[in-house]
Amino acid sequence: MSTAGFNSQNGTGTGQTYTNGPSQNPVALQQPSGVGYSVNHQPAYNQMQAKVLAPPGPALYPSGPYQPVPPGPQVGSYPPAPAQPLLPRPQIGILPSHTPPQSASPSPGPRPAQATPPAQATPPPPAVTSTSYYTGPPAWQYAAPRGPAPNHVNPAAAAPPLMSHSSTQPPGPGAPPTSIHGFTQPGSAPPPMNPLPPHTYQPNRPAYGPPPTMKPTAPPAGPPGTTGTPPPPKADGDVAGNGPQAPNSYNHVDNRMAGAAPPGRHLGHYPSLPPGYQNTSAPPPSSLHPALQAATQPYTQGPQPYQQQPGGPGPGPGPGAGPAQLSPSMAAMSLQSSTPEALRVVNLLQERNLLPPAPVPAPTPCLTQDLQKLNCSPEVFRCTLTSIPQTQSVLNKAKLPLGLLLHPFKDLSQLPVVTSSTIVRCRSCRTYINPFVSFLDQRRWKCNLCYRVNDVPEEFMYNPVSRSYGEPHKRPEVQNATIEFIAPSEYMLRPPQPAVYLFVLDVSHNAVETGYLSVFCQSLLDNISALPGDSRTKVGFITFDSTIHFYNLQEGLSQPQMLIVSDIEDIFLPTPDSLLVNLNECKELVQDLLKSLPNLFEKTMETQSALGSALQAAFKLLSPTGGRMSVFQTQLPNLGVGALQSREDPNQRASAKDVQHLSPATDFYKKLALDCSGQQVAVDLFLLSAQYCDLATLGCISRYSAGSVYYYPSYHHQHNPAQVERFQRDLKRYLTRKIGFEAVMRIRCTKGLSIHTFHGNFFVRSTDLLSLPNVNPDAGFAVQMSIEENLDDMQVVSFQAALLYTSSKGERRIRVHTMCLPVVSSLSDVFAGADVQAITGLLACMAVDRSVTSSLSDARDAMTNAAIDSLSSYRQSALTIQQPGLLAPACLRLFPLYILALLKQKAFRTGTSTRLDERVFAMYQLKYQPLAFAMLMIHPALYRLDDLSDEGALNIGEQTIPQPRVLQLSVEKLSREGAFLLDAGLVMYLWIGRNCHQNFLSQVLGVSSYAAVPEKLYLLPELDTAESQRTRAFVSWLRDQRPFFPSLHIIRDESQLKPHFLQNMIEDRTESALSYYEFLLHLQQQISK
Ligand SMILES: [Zn+2]
Repeated sequence: MSTAGFNSQNGTGTGQTYTNGPSQNPVALQQPSGVGYSVNHQPAYNQMQAKVLAPPGPALYPSGPYQPVPPGPQVGSYPPAPAQPLLPRPQIGILPSHTPPQSASPSPGPRPAQATPPAQATPPPPAVTSTSYYTGPPAWQYAAPRGPAPNHVNPAAAAPPLMSHSSTQPPGPGAPPTSIHGFTQPGSAPPPMNPLPPHTYQPNRPAYGPPPTMKPTAPPAGPPGTTGTPPPPKADGDVAGNGPQAPNSYNHVDNRMAGAAPPGRHLGHYPSLPPGYQNTSAPPPSSLHPALQAATQPYTQGPQPYQQQPGGPGPGPGPGAGPAQLSPSMAAMSLQSSTPEALRVVNLLQERNLLPPAPVPAPTPCLTQDLQKLNCSPEVFRCTLTSIPQTQSVLNKAKLPLGLLLHPFKDLSQLPVVTSSTIVRCRSCRTYINPFVSFLDQRRWKCNLCYRVNDVPEEFMYNPVSRSYGEPHKRPEVQNATIEFIAPSEYMLRPPQPAVYLFVLDVSHNAVETGYLSVFCQSLLDNISALPGDSRTKVGFITFDSTIHFYNLQEGLSQPQMLIVSDIEDIFLPTPDSLLVNLNECKELVQDLLKSLPNLFEKTMETQSALGSALQAAFKLLSPTGGRMSVFQTQLPNLGVGALQSREDPNQRASAKDVQHLSPATDFYKKLALDCSGQQVAVDLFLLSAQYCDLATLGCISRYSAGSVYYYPSYHHQHNPAQVERFQRDLKRYLTRKIGFEAVMRIRCTKGLSIHTFHGNFFVRSTDLLSLPNVNPDAGFAVQMSIEENLDDMQVVSFQAALLYTSSKGERRIRVHTMCLPVVSSLSDVFAGADVQAITGLLACMAVDRSVTSSLSDARDAMTNAAIDSLSSYRQSALTIQQPGLLAPACLRLFPLYILALLKQKAFRTGTSTRLDERVFAMYQLKYQPLAFAMLMIHPALYRLDDLSDEGALNIGEQTIPQPRVLQLSVEKLSREGAFLLDAGLVMYLWIGRNCHQNFLSQVLGVSSYAAVPEKLYLLPELDTAESQRTRAFVSWLRDQRPFFPSLHIIRDESQLKPHFLQNMIEDRTESALSYYEFLLHLQQQISK
């Protein structure tokens, strides 16, 4: 692997330094010098028309000739605007005489005083500044009385937004730059705090595991000096001799559906086991009755059996004794004498039914109960290895990747919020005080990351919860691994920015054809009052085709006014002060505009798309404040800056071994994203298109500005109702979900550990500081780590993620998550703590990078090697009793299945026709989705729905939610008498068997027979039957678990969508990919080499 490959979180830049300098930002120089307009100083409008939008109504937009802007005295040297309308647009409006825009933006001013009840209980000690009250669930707060926010504002408010992550940390590698020019050079990772040893990466080895420093000899798979291991065998390749060929799954299901297979014959069965493998003690699995299969499931839903045995040391005596008082030595853990379940040896070739009946739970770290009780939720913070190896050498032996997966801004039902004048942090490493520090006595605490001893500040002696004094270890900061602080003034260098939303809308002919505009406008109208914000919230709109259209929404206008700039090479803002307006003051104008927009472009014939110029204009508009830019695009941009050409050859989709054009065609969008990031602007991209749009290039605008990408292939308001519903639901979530502005995130870990590569959408501003102009509750992140110094003396290590952001209400807040994990010295213990889902999620991120920087085949090889290397190492080094077979510890028994699933995932699959944009989107999703959702994309869940019962159901409110068991992804599990739901994250398929029970057809689908099931069905009818209610309750419940809206396709066996459904049958063989059993044989062959 190349260093660049793994350090490429900022992409494979050209090595150029990106700055906000004039060369990148020609627009920035085009601003007329007198930006502040006045009546007497009207800027010369360059080829611009102004129109007044009529209010919606029958007499809307009579087609009529446009008139050029009446040349006023202020028009100077510019030629008259060529006013050639392309469509009936509103009657010309005379350019209104602008009211002299004072400051268009309401002065940021002091933040609204926080409503705080007076402290009135027990008289607090004099030094105490905090008191507490509960606002009740879901959020409870500790709030201190606060006066008006001090004016901490640097008078130079026009300066680039500055933030100070810590008040005392001197500027340096760890501090945010004080200028937007302070970006580290993209293309190469910022130097880690502790430089990595040269051996950390091996250029020639595509394996993902830690570097094989232990063996100078050739790695087990692949000759040295080549790109690595041999590629996986072809479907009919070298593994074929190991057993009968599994039949082609598609034919198989076809045959079965046609009744060709004799009853009871399982065509999809694994080949019989080679003789040598039949002498192990595992039960014969493949022919078990489903009920028995369930009984043999190694995992249960209950707590993991591999846990710290009870009776561990409790809190010690003495002052300050509490959970946080636990010294590392007291957290000592020992493995149970008997082999823990996680290490139970599983012969994968024999034990076939590996899936637990319900989604796989996160493993519980092997910690004392006291520590574990306080630990961060795995939904927020997860590590690939829940037992951290003591040395890099042990990690290298395990051949498993070490990294963290985070969901830092997740919506939480309970979040302790603290207001305090003093946020207690380590004086040395700036770690926030947390449950895993130790109190030496009442007055001193020891940092769990750098081990410095710090003083306990006087204020911290008072506990606002118990309103008592002298119990610092009972403070909420020391009792909660996830906590939020309302930051005092030293955490800001400018007033917290208001919530600013700018919508940039494609209104070309293609866009109008899709019909998305009316859905968007209606959604925004419906949700406009729910946009997060306060009295300072601002909104603005830009539309574009071959020209850029601005909308003057200045308070006092009778109707919105459209301003067209057709000189797209030389974008300027026609009336900078009235394009982003206060939402409260101008709500009616905004609503008028939203009602008018869909009709306004109804008859356009303009096919060109000047997206790049529109983005430049939007960036310019948002630069002074920062904010969120939401871009809606329906085609390949083909005009002006950032214009692109199609790079996809549809004929090559299935045949090419390697996929080209996964990296951007131009760095225009990345550069612009970095400019945006520097001005606290994030760009969210909604791509709605039937055609290739080069998402690999366009997506950069979101990736580096910490935005999100949404993709609706084949979106059409009439032809694709499922996409329309998805778009509507996603928009509702998008518009109303929580948002944090001008955010930065830093991840710290105990001395000795080092973070070196980041995954997600952000820009790495300095070493380990992620710049997130916006942060949203649906974004996930991952980082890779190495062990720089031996952790010999440590029993536990800690990881802390701190996210500093401005809330939509203008508060500066810091959300802190801290996770504690044990350190182990033996390889067995490392394996025992492996979190197979976290490992898979991290490998997926790494494979995406590898696909872009190297090649798809290289990434595929590396994923396969990850499975080979780790199982090989387990066999050689951790297994005490050698036995035949393909052996895995129980905690990793799903690893080969997940790796195979990744190889068949849209992002990485070969041999199957995959649109380039869909592939790139899948790659984005794998890097950006929190783990739980990424896992659904990788290994979907299959359920049988025609026999749902209330047995084991969840009761939520008044609803009963059935809980059918998760089935293996194989056509063997299907039956033509049944109906099966496949949940693949963004999409669900409900497949109806040809002989589906009449009861299900009539009671759930409301049809009389199989033949009566419509060809296109996207909704479960609301029938008043128990079966219908159960089915709908289950599907809704699944949907409610995730922040995006999966569309549902109800398909018959003959449906055109059947191949899409069958592609998810990961365990089956296809023309181009191995079956699960063949894959296992391949792994075994490589391991025993
Ligand atoms: Zn420290």
